[in-house]
Amino acid sequence: MQSVTVLGSTGSIGVSTLDVLARHPDRYAVYALTANTSSDDLFSQVIEFKPQFAVLRDEGLAAKFAKRLADAGCATEVLSGEKGLCAVAAAADITMAAIVGAAGLLPTLAAVEAGKKVLLANKESLVMAGQLFMDAVAKSGAILLPIDSEHNAIFQCLPLAADEGIKAQGVKRILLTGSGGPFRATPIAELAKVTPDQACAHPNWSMGRKISVDSATMMNKGLELIEACWLFHTDPATIEIIVHPQSVIHSMVEYVDGSVLAQLGNPDMRTPIAHALAWPERIYSGVSSLDIISQARLDFEAPDEDRFPCLRLAREAAIRGGTAPAVLNAANEIAVAAFLDGELAFVDIAKVIADVMAQTSIGEPQSLRDVQSADSEARLLASDIISAKTQAQYVI
Ligand code: NAD
Ligand code: MG
Repeated sequence: MQSVTVLGSTGSIGVSTLDVLARHPDRYAVYALTANTSSDDLFSQVIEFKPQFAVLRDEGLAAKFAKRLADAGCATEVLSGEKGLCAVAAAADITMAAIVGAAGLLPTLAAVEAGKKVLLANKESLVMAGQLFMDAVAKSGAILLPIDSEHNAIFQCLPLAADEGIKAQGVKRILLTGSGGPFRATPIAELAKVTPDQACAHPNWSMGRKISVDSATMMNKGLELIEACWLFHTDPATIEIIVHPQSVIHSMVEYVDGSVLAQLGNPDMRTPIAHALAWPERIYSGVSSLDIISQARLDFEAPDEDRFPCLRLAREAAIRGGTAPAVLNAANEIAVAAFLDGELAFVDIAKVIADVMAQTSIGEPQSLRDVQSADSEARLLASDIISAKTQAQYVI
């Protein structure tokens, strides 16, 4: 029996993780569940899974939440804040890191530093702190398994001893696939007017709002490019991004002998979650069989960087290295939040990120503090640029 902490249990990945865990009560016991502010959702999950701990990031809500649980006769202990998140992340055998954005960095690192089995959905933490994060994995002996469907697919297609460097293992290229999101075929002139709901209506995947917007701008694929470089010890030139609208192939690996291995399946995150939970064994995930005959065709196209300028920005940040990916990620988080709040046009997301990248000096982070200050400065600059844009619109 292994204990599992689910960081971000009320989100899209969190809920899918609990769905898989509920199918295997003989293998896994839920140790802790956590949320930011959604205390109603967390309450129902705690009543169902009876974890030892529940954590609310929002300290103001935690005391009321604890009373509500006690009134319901539930013995789960309530913690709060980042300290609570880090404590439960470090204490279970397995931690699912499924908080969205930079807020996931410290709790995910806490699980890594404790040498646990860490299932990484929170790609932003690896994008921000790549070298420090991977150094911490090497030092603690943590087992880091990718949940992002593409990286999980690549992991499944790589030789087992990929740590020595995938080129030494005969890998020539990684083909990182992405659907192209909801605006793959929308006339470019119409992109200026698209709404948050349109951006979040992904054709194949049901996900949280931030990653849904990232998929619509294809920044998600850009972040995934950086994530893949760290996870698979390789460089951006080895990774080619391919648009594959059906999301049936989740990525491919090409070897020097011409073999191309692909991982296929229905687009359902319970597959990579079950794979990583049980690795190196296999367990049932609840995902239905892929009906390859009804599927009939698989299409592929090259990504269009005029339509998706975020792809170019992310590749540039990957090549620059140092604090560039942290700056890119922070500017993106602020711009996406402003778009979701109706304060920024969809097409201006990439412009804000480009401006922040152009106005920021990039250094080599020596410590987490350096990463955090690059992140904070980029957030401030992005907010200033967005306010200036909003005011300029009012003047016109
Ligand atoms: P979501 O918005 O649905 O859920 C986010 C979770 O994090 C919620 O439980 C929320 O309460 C918690 N959270 C948000 N802000 C927080 C904060 N400041 N402090 C503590 N907790 C906080 O997001 P999601 O779609 O489940 O994505 C989670 C992560 O997984 C992201 O990094 C995303 O890129 C990655 N991911 C998601 C999918 C998917 O299919 N949804 C696929 C691949 C990767
Ligand atoms: Mg993905």
